Amino acid sequence: MILLMGIAGSGKGTQGKMLADKYSLHLISMGDVLRMYVTGDQRQRMLAGDLLDDTEIIAIVDKVLSSIPDNETVLLDGFPRTIPQAEWLIKQVEAERFRLDVAFHLQASREAVKERLIGRARIDDTDSAIEARFNEYERSTMPLLEWLTRHSIKVINVNAERSVEEVNKDLAHYLEDSQKL
Ligand code: AMP
Repeated sequence: MILLMGIAGSGKGTQGKMLADKYSLHLISMGDVLRMYVTGDQRQRMLAGDLLDDTEIIAIVDKVLSSIPDNETVLLDGFPRTIPQAEWLIKQVEAERFRLDVAFHLQASREAVKERLIGRARIDDTDSAIEARFNEYERSTMPLLEWLTRHSIKVINVNAERSVEEVNKDLAHYLEDSQKL
């Protein structure tokens, strides 16, 4: 399993798709899965850029992962985003349900990604939702990166302010050189 982490607009979706196509991986984008499953209040929270409840997210990701055959490489975009989500994931790894190979952290500043998000014009890419997602990222995801490292998960920081091709080349090199595929 390969994790893709990073601030909204850092290119997780684009890079995830490129890697999945290149190496024939199972790509699970939490945002896409949630846009398929979630209704009512939770959907409004998503639109506002707030994270959804861990229990609900974990139940959904558990269901989706169950549909994938054992021993296949999964590329997970947008999960875990909080420490309780990561704790659940580590438990699955300890129970030998998956192997966790690496977490890529696509690093980019608020300023660098803001333009990209505005250009993308998704319905949750309003100024206030963008702000809320940045804040959630700093509050929840940044501490998670340290937590993963402390739990012996390899976190690779990649400068995601460069072009799509340059970032992709780095990710691909890492996967090929470290024989993670
Ligand atoms: P994304 O497409 O990755 O930007 O995700 C869109 C929205 O889905 C986020 O702003 C959150 O509201 C929700 N979401 C996605 N992944 C998670 C997660 N792991 N935990 C909680 N909420 C999530």
